[in-house]
Amino acid sequence: MNIVILLGAPGSGKGTIASRLAADDPQHLKHVSSGDLLRGAVAKGTPAGQAAKAAMDAGQLVADELIAAMIKDVIDETEGEVTMLLDGFPRNVKQAEILEGIGAKIRSVVLVDVADEAITDRIAGRRTCPKCKAGYNVTALPPKVEGICDHCGTALVVRADDNPETVRDRLRVYHAQTEPLIEYYRQKGLLRTIDGDQGPEKNAAAFKAAM
Ligand code: AMP
Repeated sequence: MNIVILLGAPGSGKGTIASRLAADDPQHLKHVSSGDLLRGAVAKGTPAGQAAKAAMDAGQLVADELIAAMIKDVIDETEGEVTMLLDGFPRNVKQAEILEGIGAKIRSVVLVDVADEAITDRIAGRRTCPKCKAGYNVTALPPKVEGICDHCGTALVVRADDNPETVRDRLRVYHAQTEPLIEYYRQKGLLRTIDGDQGPEKNAAAFKAAM
């Protein structure tokens, strides 16, 4: 098992890229989204979910140890020749150090680069399937039938933290806490960058070539 880390602001398209690539090659690629793990825990009302909810609603990061333990469980249960597309973790230098401590091999770190102005518009149009987690955008990537998931027929939802105020806080958190990881991984020789503004298909192809 090895890991490719997707780095990028909320709404940069990391999740869309990772889920497309994993759907095309499910035997070799596994998409792991820290946000999906946390939203799943909140929905189930587990102790971890209860502990994470307030920070998530406020657009802040949940405790490093809490999310790191969830990621470690997924790494431990992943066997074979699989590349894990790790989306949303690590989110700060402390988490990057915890990940190294777990001992998993990091193959590369790919930054999906998108300007903040584009992000706010994109998130406004974002829709998600609560069941299979497929992501859509009302303008850039609409479902075939409005409001309905192409894959499983479930009604699409707007994420609770996708409102304009929380998005501003999430972007602030990204610049303050996550952006330092760009330099961190550059110094380790692991960083590659793609332009995340090419549309879903070309973004995924550029990512695949970079990783
Ligand atoms: P995301 O789906 O990646 O945008 O994550 C949604 C929310 O989950 C974030 O705004 C955080 O509150 C929380 N979250 C996701 N990943 C992490 C992480 N690695 N560390 C701390 N909080 C996280």
